[in-house]
Amino acid sequence: MLAVVPVREGVLPAGGIETVDECGGRVLLIGSGSAAAATELAGHAVEVTAIEASGYAPAAWAGALLRHLGGEDQIVLPASPDGRDLAPRLAVLLQRELFAGAISVAPHRVELARNGGLVINEVRPVTAFVATLQPGVRGADPASSSAEPLVTMLSAEFDAEAADAQVVEVLNPDAATMDLAESQRILGGGAGLQTAEIFAELATLSRALDASMGATRVITDRGWVNHDRQIGTTGVVVDPKLYLAFGISGAVQHTSGLGQPEHIISVNIDPRCPMMQLSDLAIVSDANAVIAELLERVATRPAMASDA
Ligand SMILES: Cc1cc2nc3c(=O)[nH]c(=O)nc-3n(C[C@H](O)[C@H](O)[C@H](O)COP(=O)(O)OP(=O)(O)OC[C@H]3O[C@@H](n4cnc5c(N)ncnc54)[C@H](O)[C@@H]3O)c2cc1C
Repeated sequence: MLAVVPVREGVLPAGGIETVDECGGRVLLIGSGSAAAATELAGHAVEVTAIEASGYAPAAWAGALLRHLGGEDQIVLPASPDGRDLAPRLAVLLQRELFAGAISVAPHRVELARNGGLVINEVRPVTAFVATLQPGVRGADPASSSAEPLVTMLSAEFDAEAADAQVVEVLNPDAATMDLAESQRILGGGAGLQTAEIFAELATLSRALDASMGATRVITDRGWVNHDRQIGTTGVVVDPKLYLAFGISGAVQHTSGLGQPEHIISVNIDPRCPMMQLSDLAIVSDANAVIAELLERVATRPAMASDA
């Protein structure tokens, strides 16, 4: 199996390392700073080829990749936004089936999560295919060493006439609407928050802190928050640096979708609940009141440089 990982400015996308691990360490990187991105693969990649390409042009990239991929029967991309753009174009050009949103990929067995993870479909491919692997589900293997992989640069010809969108400007993602799986700071709310209005406040607070809002299934089932904001096994698997949990008990179906945040802060009236046990900072307090207080504080804080 070969991982094909689109990169930007020397940075791997969400799920990049997991995809390389799933493919046994064989990877072709394509994008700007492709060789620099390989340094993130120390201890994961055993065979790295790379194509340097500026901008993001999935149609032109797919065409350029063709001559390097003909002999590869199983091609796996991360289901990151760029991977989801590139994979179908590759599948069409290679005239193969596309298995999108896989949770595991092996040469003759692919598992696909459907209906928000409530259904797992298993397919047994008998011909070559392209797949995308859902970030955060399998997790990355521990690095086997710290040695940076050797990178073989490949040449490529890009078709300037390929049907790509014209990029006018690249804007930083809006934390309020960005894919939760990519968010680095998340404020999550659970059943300890008493009304839908408090979730509107949590959304406002998240925006003020340049963070995304998430919720437990109890809340999405109530319809207070959309399902695309649900964190957990039947929601989105996230991997933020910072997770703030307001009124969340920490059921395993929730925490198993949390990845490995560097910092977890919880506010809960029950000091013994699992979420508090998992936290670096556990605050025993009414989460509704804490949100109201934080909102007042951000409203009156002096403007920061990043607010400009
Ligand atoms: C097949 C299946 C799949 C599931 N998938 C998911 C999933 O993807 N994601 C998910 O989240 N859940 C999922 N669940 C549900 C999961 O098991 C839990 O029921 C859910 O996560 C609990 O949500 P909660 O923490 O908001 O609610 P509760 O477990 O009810 O916890 C509420 C917490 O709020 C605290 N609290 C109460 N009042 C206050 C207050 N005033 N201030 C502060 N804290 C307060 C309580 O002490 C408690 O810890 C799934 C369940 C099943 C069976």
